[in-house]
Amino acid sequence: MGLERFAAEWRESYVEGASKDGANHANECVFCRLGSLAVDESTGVIARGEQAFVVLNAYPYGSGHLLVVPYRHVSSLSALSDDESEELFSLIRTASRAIDQAYEPEGQNIGFNLGRAAGAGVPNHLHGHLLPRWNGDTNFMTSLGETRVLPESLGRTWQKITAVW
Ligand SMILES: [Zn+2]
Repeated sequence: MGLERFAAEWRESYVEGASKDGANHANECVFCRLGSLAVDESTGVIARGEQAFVVLNAYPYGSGHLLVVPYRHVSSLSALSDDESEELFSLIRTASRAIDQAYEPEGQNIGFNLGRAAGAGVPNHLHGHLLPRWNGDTNFMTSLGETRVLPESLGRTWQKITAVW
């Protein structure tokens, strides 16, 4: 039940951001809020570092979709300090390994969408995506269109990833 509230709050934040033409302020930012929360299944937070954290995507493109996010509200890679950049990439490596161990996928998509034009849902707070992939799952997801039917719950994803972190 906790994760449902997490997802609802996330959706609210998207709506607030959209209503301000992308002029999302830090106090309304879902990633700024998530960055202050504890590692717990109810918050979706997987791991916390000094400069950045790892959290479930509340609207995953597939099972095991993780986000790596700096605590600081910045929108570009060039705005990161060396320390932030270093830890962000270190968390990406750990998350990638955890996805391999938990899901044994045939591939992974890892990347950043910068700006709304590139598909970022929260364009003003930098976040990297990690998504396990299997041969043939592109067509599967495409055929589903906007309907996101997932084989597992967010709570199950949280349990599988934290078990191998
Ligand atoms: Zn933010």
